Amino acid sequence: MAEALKAVKGMNDILPGESGHWEWFEDKVRDLMARYGYTNMRTPIVEPTALFVRGLGEVTDIVEKEMYSFTDAMNGDQLTLRPEATAGLVRAAIEHNTLHHGPMRVWSQVALFRHERPQKGRYRQFHQIDVEAFGLAGPDVDAEQIMMCRTLCRELGFVEGRDVRLEINTLGQPAERAAHRAALVAYLEQHAGNLDEDSKRRLYTNPLRILDSKNPSMQPLVEAAPKLMDHLDEASLAHFDGLRRLLDAAGLAYRVNPRLVRGLDYYNLTVFEWVTDLLGSQGTVCGGGRYDGLFEQLGGKPTPAVGWGMGIERMLLLLEALQTRVPARRPTVYAVVPSIAALERALPTIETLRAAGISVQMHAGGGSMKSQFRRADASGARYALIFGDDELSRGEVGWKDLRDASAVQLTQPLAGMADWAAALLRR
Ligand code: ATP
Ligand code: MG
Repeated sequence: MAEALKAVKGMNDILPGESGHWEWFEDKVRDLMARYGYTNMRTPIVEPTALFVRGLGEVTDIVEKEMYSFTDAMNGDQLTLRPEATAGLVRAAIEHNTLHHGPMRVWSQVALFRHERPQKGRYRQFHQIDVEAFGLAGPDVDAEQIMMCRTLCRELGFVEGRDVRLEINTLGQPAERAAHRAALVAYLEQHAGNLDEDSKRRLYTNPLRILDSKNPSMQPLVEAAPKLMDHLDEASLAHFDGLRRLLDAAGLAYRVNPRLVRGLDYYNLTVFEWVTDLLGSQGTVCGGGRYDGLFEQLGGKPTPAVGWGMGIERMLLLLEALQTRVPARRPTVYAVVPSIAALERALPTIETLRAAGISVQMHAGGGSMKSQFRRADASGARYALIFGDDELSRGEVGWKDLRDASAVQLTQPLAGMADWAAALLRR
């Protein structure tokens, strides 16, 4: 036998036993988006490498070491499997001039690719729900997006404050950050002896990232570093204040975390994360913020924008950690079809049930009645629809409740079977 091939490391198969959780979650997301007036948008998985180099910043972790980039062997194009969703959505909005008629609110479900060290909650192909609002500048829409995430968490059964918590911060504007950055570099230079290897490397490339260091020995230094808040102007402070007021009014508890900087270069003003203590160091389930400069950076007109990305795998791990009961997807009816001759009558009848909205799994592959009933049982179906030769010769079909041991098998006319079954299921 030939050696069996395996999936690429860090990339997961989603098997039928797990896909029910995905679909349950996805249904809730679609419903949520409709209620908030966000429309679906989809862009290619592969983009020109330049999009991410320009969009995310050359010295971000993602661009430096996590991208799946390759040369198209046919024409030499430099391409990348998208490592995040926003750059592609913004590219598409610019390319198709979609903001011509005013602001837009969109969402996308995306597969993303990052060459990270795989572990629980961190994969090389992972998936996000991504939400973006283009063309809106105020803290109102920042608050709206944060609230969307709260609503979804609630509808998944997560308890705010216990299972998930909101952290917010403001990054101010580029000029304010530059002033802060200069003060920060001066401070870090004074303490160069206490910097770890990562931080030394970042001192002149991405010093803000040092504040994000997870190294415990770096914490005292980070705590005492110059604060961005002290470099913000009135407008930036007002934006942040506006957001806080809206969150307060909505009864949404949050912690201002001045060290929350996020990994990508393009953010300004509002940044936020929904975090959990239940997933170890993969504790961020949703992260987002404002990126008013990205449209211009990618060759578009100045356009304010805000968005978030939610890790679907992490949300599902959280559901699992909380032992959330997700309703299983089972057929309602299992059709037992003992003979080929019966199949010719069975198929059209089964189709009428399905057309009436009833889920029917049809037995395929023949076999004895006994073995078919075993399959029916294993399918989890509530009822069996039995196309026995005797019944069919009278123009009838059998019906049995598989989950009620005392139930007797009923016989019903084939004609009108779908209406009869639909009425029974409504009861
Ligand atoms: P982290 O700090 O955990 O690496 P990040 O800041 O890189 O996250 P973003 O790029 O903001 O994450 O993506 C938003 C969300 O996508 C994260 O909050 C997380 O839920 C999820 N996510 C990010 N990277 C991965 C990954 N490699 N595997 C699974 N989920 C991920
Ligand atoms: Mg990361």
